[in-house]
Amino acid sequence: MRVLLLGGGGREHAIGWKLAQSPALTDLVAVPGNPGLAQLGACIPCVDLTDTDAVVSLALANAIDLVVVGPEAPLAAGVVDALAEVGIDAFGPTAAGARLEASKAFAKDVMRRAGVATGDAWSFTDVDEAIAHLETMEGPYVVKADGLAAGKGVLVTEDLIAAQGWARLCIEGRFGPAGTTVVVEEYLKGREVSVFAICDGERALALEPARDYKRLENGGRGPNTGGMGCYSPVADLPEALVETTLRDVIEPVLATMAGDGITYRGFLYAGMMITDEGPKVLEFNCRLGDPETQALVPRLDEDLLELLASATEGRIPERPLRWLDVAAVDVVLASAGYPETPDTGRAITGMEAVSAMSDVQVFHAGTARTRDGLITSGGRVLNVVGLGPDVAAARRRAYDAAGHIHFGGMHHRTDIGS
Ligand code: AMP
Repeated sequence: MRVLLLGGGGREHAIGWKLAQSPALTDLVAVPGNPGLAQLGACIPCVDLTDTDAVVSLALANAIDLVVVGPEAPLAAGVVDALAEVGIDAFGPTAAGARLEASKAFAKDVMRRAGVATGDAWSFTDVDEAIAHLETMEGPYVVKADGLAAGKGVLVTEDLIAAQGWARLCIEGRFGPAGTTVVVEEYLKGREVSVFAICDGERALALEPARDYKRLENGGRGPNTGGMGCYSPVADLPEALVETTLRDVIEPVLATMAGDGITYRGFLYAGMMITDEGPKVLEFNCRLGDPETQALVPRLDEDLLELLASATEGRIPERPLRWLDVAAVDVVLASAGYPETPDTGRAITGMEAVSAMSDVQVFHAGTARTRDGLITSGGRVLNVVGLGPDVAAARRRAYDAAGHIHFGGMHHRTDIGS
């Protein structure tokens, strides 16, 4: 099978690494890919992944059998729909399905109709109405741009004036087309967990839980980031959380979408808050998380290519997914200045030493290959994943390996999995 993988971050390197282990894979082409993926197949840079015509041309030119989509933007842009029109299978929801992530107001509506527990929410396109509504609430206030804003469209604050200002920014277009509708939500208090599922339109299979670390610094301090690390499995979850999320969230959402004529095939990721009243959904994502994927994929005891192809054809296995009895800890090595203004162009050393280590896998994210060697090209540079019989052992392995790698300004959290 010839596979085209869309994306070029740590998540996509992890997916590509696992696809490459499938006996059914003959060729892997990644767009844009990264130096890690370049060791597994061809990488084609300079294609706008939301340009559906360009992706279709590329898939046709490379005689692709299956397209696997990593990030949300191409899904929301309708790349799966466009590929279907020319008869190419793609793993991921159609644009209509991806609205679960691309419109928070749409997701709330589906959840309401599916009877899924979530916080109350109100949508506004008028600044004065949004401001007046916030006036009637008590803090903390939760104000979100309706559409895709790369995680930057959400403000949670005690400050009413800041919340009202954010609503204005959203409606006045700070987030481009992602804004203009603002969603004000009930504040939910509790502990956050994410549950991932692979869906074939009717049924869903849960992935093992993983816990990520969003803040830049140890102990959850500093600014929010794309994610500074992750571990899996997670021991301290409410009993049967995954089973109840499948039954009470994922399956009702699939059924409600199917009732609307939307066959949802792809990953569905439910961000949940465990409140005193039970788990409630914060948001949906229509793809896997980054860095969660990097900690999950090495634990998955399945042929990923076969699994994704089966979901694309509407026939996922009728048994739970198999997992290796190992733990994984992913430590993200970041550039100076991340997340605001990451420094780039620094030489990366120590990769050879790490590639010789057992129970360690390094996934590339913000790296580039030059004539002089590997350099940094983004904020999150490398994911160093350690494996072991338990999280403590995996954590030691990850930090041992991270200790061999160096680039100017490199920093990482030291409390991942502790
Ligand atoms: P979202 O992109 O919607 O998941 O929001 C990003 C982050 O904001 C979440 O991971 C939560 O930490 C926080 N958040 C979002 N919605 C709420 C809410 N209704 N109550 C409390 N915190 C929230």
